[in-house]
Amino acid sequence: MIQLYQPLNFMGLVYREVKQAIIDIDMMSAILRSAPEVQDRPGAEALVVSRGHLRFEDVWFRYDPKRDILRGVSFDVPPGKTVAVVGPSGAGKSTLSRLMFRFYEPHRGRITVDGQDIAGVTQSSLRDAIGMVPQDTVLFNDTLGYNIRYGRWAADEAEVAEAARLAQIDRFVASVPEGYRAQVGERGLKLSGGEKQRVAIARTILKAPAILVLDEATSALDTFTEREIQDALDRVSRGRTTVVIAHRLSTVVNADEILVLDKGVIVERGTHDGLLERRGIYSAMWNQQREAEAVADMLRGSEAGD
Ligand code: ADP
Ligand code: MG
Repeated sequence: MIQLYQPLNFMGLVYREVKQAIIDIDMMSAILRSAPEVQDRPGAEALVVSRGHLRFEDVWFRYDPKRDILRGVSFDVPPGKTVAVVGPSGAGKSTLSRLMFRFYEPHRGRITVDGQDIAGVTQSSLRDAIGMVPQDTVLFNDTLGYNIRYGRWAADEAEVAEAARLAQIDRFVASVPEGYRAQVGERGLKLSGGEKQRVAIARTILKAPAILVLDEATSALDTFTEREIQDALDRVSRGRTTVVIAHRLSTVVNADEILVLDKGVIVERGTHDGLLERRGIYSAMWNQQREAEAVADMLRGSEAGD
């Protein structure tokens, strides 16, 4: 009985995650196409980043008036620290990152960077300060080099190569006949999800932002490159203020604080060990993921054995 139950449970998890990824792609393109662009306030000044201290103070947000998506979210990411956000699909996790990037503004409360309300600074200075590695990277229909250099146009070739190495996309580039000049996208090379994400990581390494926001790809989508991506992400986030919307157990374990978001409310918060001791939602999620991983390993093992 248990043998039947676990794979079904696992398939349910895969299905949900795939569905969520598709929703995220749709939403991201919908946002980029149609979100009423948040405007700079008259006289807005550039954000001055000294240490990269990020705070959410009683943030409320809704896309439409009928439904609050975030309800009084407060947290603090001290300079150089990592906060992980976990929680079910639809909890509002990606919404947090959209607010940080100011695709939208909270209708109550505020978000500050080094004490400055991000609503009052220029968009361009805010987006310079924050690097985002989204769940699904959409590449420009241009060369590989262009897509990496987008992080910082002034970067020279050696810097681009170093970023590619750190992001572990260098061997891929070397395997393509035209290297950095290879066209990607609709009429060029088709990159896998993992390759695209590593291009985005290289871009972010070049950008070297004070604050990093990672919306991790779901492990079920790209098992093979997961470890490599994890290493690359660890490297970018080291010593940098980081908010990670976390799917991978390893990220969660090492975070300085974990927030469990459910229906727009932080329902649990603490370190990995502290939250396990509570035996609440986090510990239940943790156990469920471990089961799913065990099943995935089992399936991989039986494939290898065939
Ligand atoms: P998570 O990342 O935790 O899965 P999201 O932050 O993407 O959740 O979404 C939170 C809720 O907000 C979901 O119920 C989602 O349907 C809704 N939502 C997301 N984007 C929009 C939008 N542009 N318009 C209306 N509702 C949205
Ligand atoms: Mg999301």
